[in-house]
Amino acid sequence: MKKLIEIKGLTKEFGGNVVLKGIDLDIYENEFVTFLGPSGCGKTTTLRIIGGFEQASSGVVLFDGKNIENEPAFKRQTNTVFQRYALFPHLNVFENVAFGLRIKENNKTSFFKRFKKNKESEAIIREKVLKMLKIVGLEGFENRSINRLSGGQQQRVAIARALVNEPKVLLLDEPLAALDLKLRQDMQYELKEIQRNLGITFIFVTHDQEEALTMSDKIVVMHEGIIQQVGTPEGIYNEPVNRIVADFIGESNIINGIMREDFKVEFDNQIFDCVDKGFKLNEPVDVVIRPEDIDIVPIEKGLMQGEVTSVVFKGVHFEIEVKTAYREFLIHTTDYSALGSKVGLTLNPDDIHIMEKMEW
Ligand code: ATP
Repeated sequence: MKKLIEIKGLTKEFGGNVVLKGIDLDIYENEFVTFLGPSGCGKTTTLRIIGGFEQASSGVVLFDGKNIENEPAFKRQTNTVFQRYALFPHLNVFENVAFGLRIKENNKTSFFKRFKKNKESEAIIREKVLKMLKIVGLEGFENRSINRLSGGQQQRVAIARALVNEPKVLLLDEPLAALDLKLRQDMQYELKEIQRNLGITFIFVTHDQEEALTMSDKIVVMHEGIIQQVGTPEGIYNEPVNRIVADFIGESNIINGIMREDFKVEFDNQIFDCVDKGFKLNEPVDVVIRPEDIDIVPIEKGLMQGEVTSVVFKGVHFEIEVKTAYREFLIHTTDYSALGSKVGLTLNPDDIHIMEKMEW
């Protein structure tokens, strides 16, 4: 795959407040990349710098190997879809999508040529707009007024409008945030489909981990202006590099532990076998255990013992809380346990993830 965007040492300061603290990232052709992180971590700022809506304080963004610092947004090979999609309410669906194309056409040609070429370019515009409306599932909607569209349909128009100029990269800033859950999930699959069919790079910003896991080829987890981890959805979920990522992606039990020796970790006053090595003797570590990796067994068979304090049916699994002498464990299981029952808990060594402790 060809490298399309190269971000090196990017920082951004707003009036003394450093919100990006040195971002390094490569983005490739045809990738669906998602910036994921809590509100305020710098996702949007990074996207805005790539799109040309914001200047970096230091560092560079290379596009096809070329520094684009001085290229204004409208000249870049990127287009943006915002959360509030800002469609023109007085124009119909067709004209909203055609808008960008007309501007481009007008910029390209002189007044006289424009006049002569009008007919010809109109046919091209029509072909392009109709093709895009088909791609976003709005065939036949071209004469519909914007006000008579649902939120999901309006967002599709916004996406079609951004794509019709055939950008190399589409930047999407929480474009689904305003939609209700069902529609949002449908649009997630559709967006991924569109990206796959068009073969262009999508850079998507969200604070919703499920959305990121569903759609992305590559997830960039950010926290306080720093990239914590870059990886595939599976990689990030199964092998989070630290407590921040583990906490943000999926639900986790995060416990303070001590590495007593290679393959032996102590927490909750007990030594457990694990598969990690290379830590210092007695080094404090973060122990991360996913809720689906803990098994509830009869009390005498458990490595730990506790009482069931909460049982919630979640459709596919039960979300159960078990209180031991040291903490409350969150457990996802398809087996029911009665509230108040005394149970045992077991874990496999490879379900215990050991992470270097973070400086807070
Ligand atoms: P959200 O999901 O809430 O949009 P985010 O991760 O996208 O969060 P950014 O919008 O990039 O975060 O903002 C990062 C930090 O920069 C925040 O603390 C924000 O208040 C600050 N910030 C963003 N834009 C400006 C601005 N124009 N002036 C001053 N501070 C800003």
